[in-house]
Parts: sequence; C-alpha cells; structure tokens
Amino acid sequence: MPAKVYTDKDADMRVIAKKTLAVIGYGSQGHAHALNLKDSGCKVIIGLYPKSKSVETAKKHGFEVYSTAEAVQKADVIMVAVPDMVQPKVYEEDILPNLAPGKTLLFTHGLCIHFGLITPPEGVDVIMVAPKGPGHVVRTQYLEGKGVPALIAVQEGSSKGAKKLALAWAKGIGGTRAGVLQTTFKEECETDLFGEQAVLCGGASALVQCGFETLVEAGYQPEMAYFECLHELKLIVDLMIESGISGMRFSISETAEYGDVTRGPRVITPATKKSMQKILKEIQTGKFTKQWVKEYNSGYKEFNKLRKAGEKHPIEKVGKRLRSMMPWIPKKDLKGTQASYSAK
Ligand code: NAD
Ligand code: MG
Repeated sequence: MPAKVYTDKDADMRVIAKKTLAVIGYGSQGHAHALNLKDSGCKVIIGLYPKSKSVETAKKHGFEVYSTAEAVQKADVIMVAVPDMVQPKVYEEDILPNLAPGKTLLFTHGLCIHFGLITPPEGVDVIMVAPKGPGHVVRTQYLEGKGVPALIAVQEGSSKGAKKLALAWAKGIGGTRAGVLQTTFKEECETDLFGEQAVLCGGASALVQCGFETLVEAGYQPEMAYFECLHELKLIVDLMIESGISGMRFSISETAEYGDVTRGPRVITPATKKSMQKILKEIQTGKFTKQWVKEYNSGYKEFNKLRKAGEKHPIEKVGKRLRSMMPWIPKKDLKGTQASYSAK
C-alpha cells in the first residue's frame, strides 16, 4: 500500500494554539520554523546562549529571546535547532535539567536520538518534524504560500497526542501544504545521511568537479567546463523535479538522450553502487556518526582541511567570475537572513 500523505486537512493547529513553543537555536532551520509558526498564529519564543550572535536577529524578527534554560522552563514544546554535534552538550546542560513530564522535545533530524547521543527521560514526548529542504527554503516557500514537504516521526514511548502535535507543527511551518509523510527516527536519519552523502551533496559535488576537471585537463576553457558541468545542472534537475527522469529526457535533444542512456551507466557503474552500499553500511552501523563525533571533538582537524581544499578548487574561481556576469542569478546572502553560522 502506498504511504499515507498528510495534508492540511489532516492537521489541527488547535493542538498547539495554546502552547508555548520554544525554538532553541536561530540558524537555518530554527529561524524558519520560528517565523513560519509565528505567522501561523503560534506563540513562539527563542532560546539561545547569552552571547549568541543570533540574539539580535531573533529580537529584530519580533521574538522574545531567553536563555536556553529559561526557554525550556517556559515552553510546552521545545525544538532542538542547534547543530547536531552541539545538541548533546546543550541538552545535558540546559535542556534536561529544565524538562518536565508532559513537555515535548522536537527534532528536525534523527541523528542524536537514533544513535543515542541524547536519551530523553520518560514522560517526555519525542517527535520529529523534518522538512525535506534547507531552512531558508522552508521560509521563502511559506511566504509564497507554498511549503516544503516534511517528515514526521514519533519516538517509542511518547503519548497518544504526540503525532497530532507533530502534524500541527508541520502545518504551522507550511509542510502539510506540500505533503507530510510519517517515518521513524531510524529511517529518517539513515536515509537523510545517505542522501546527502551519496547523491545530493557528496555525489553531486564530486560528479560536477570530476566532469569539470576532465574537460579542463583536456585543454578546454574552464568557462566552458563550468557552464557544461555546473551551471546547466540546475536546468536538468529542474526538469527532473517537474516531470521525472523520463520527462527530462523528453525535453532534451535526441542526441543528448542517446548519450545519456548509453554513457550514464559508464560513469555511475556497479562499482559506484558498491561504494554507495558501503557508505550506507557505515551509516547503519553508526561508524559514520562515531567518526563525525570524533572529528567534531578534535576541533574539525580533517574537516577544515577538506573544506579548504574544496574552496580552492579551480571551479570556484571561474564560477565566481561567471556568476557575477549573470545578474539574474540571485546573489542571496543566506547567512544574512538568519544568524551567523556558528560552526562555519
Ligand atoms: P545552524 O548551524 O544553521 O544553526 C544553529 C544555531 O544554533 C546557530 O545559529 C546558533 O544560534 C545556535 N548555536 C550554535 N552553537 C550553539 C551552542 N553551542 N549553544 C547554543 N546554541 C548554539 O543549524 P541547522 O543547520 O539549522 O541545524 C539544526 C538542526 O536542523 C540539525 O539537527 C540539523 O540536522 C537539522 N536540519 C537542518 C537542515 C538545514 O537546512 N540546515 C535541514 C534539515 C534538518
Ligand atoms: Mg540532510
């Protein structure tokens, strides 16, 4: 049976209408949930550490800002919207001591709960509302009357009302306008990590860089390589989003389509699938999370090296110049729409 898709009519905002909702952290997801819920008529407060740069931004956006501990005390529902690696410490120090039975903890990603970095006490409901898109898109889509599809999950041991609350929250951020699916913390966490590692972020970036390098190393102009391997990707992906892979193939030339079906499988080979399966195993066994926690605790030693190498890749230089010549490409300062990114 196909999975049930929840829409606006399945969610009742009255479930959260009289509750105080605290959003802890005012970054990518935090600011989007907070603003959308406020615009949907909910009472939202923000919890931050006193020196956070986000305090001013959140106040400017019309919120009451408290310390995390105070916000947790005041709230019925507490959204943990600080980076995953920061969550365990913020939880231990400021959230747990102020939790009480009947309160609800809400996550937008299952990592800390699923891999046991956070174990909430009995009597506290644990739910997830995870939009399938970056925070700033959650906000802009909402303002345009649209919504980003979202996942909800209810952790075992939560009360009967937990699912209704998750649906109401999803409605408040615009998720039910697009469609909401129910999942588990395990499924969301493992598929989300896999998607970003193998396809969306890791896979796509590596594919683009590899294509660019191949053309440039063969003596073609970097500008040409940039257009072919990066710029046009969006046009193709837009077609896929609108009408699937077959629909995209209908729009491209026959020559492009013949090249697609004969050469694609030579780029992404059975060996690539084997690598993907290995990556998935590392996620499922917790190996990836363990490595990430270690990296975080070591102060991003390896991570920063890899980040810098990515920033120095020749595709960035040529891309910067070409983008500046295309004024219609929105030059969004994403960081300016919310707070500064703490870890970046
Ligand atoms: P972020 O990095 O954008 O922002 C986190 C915010 O947390 C900062 O702006 C700051 O206000 C606060 N913060 C940082 N360090 C802190 C500390 N030591 N103590 C207290 N507060 C601190 O975070 P994010 O990307 O929105 O991630 C939040 C959660 O949302 C994570 O669980 C993540 O997996 C999930 N998520 C994010 C996205 C996304 O679009 N970025 C998408 C889906 C799920
Ligand atoms: Mg993700």
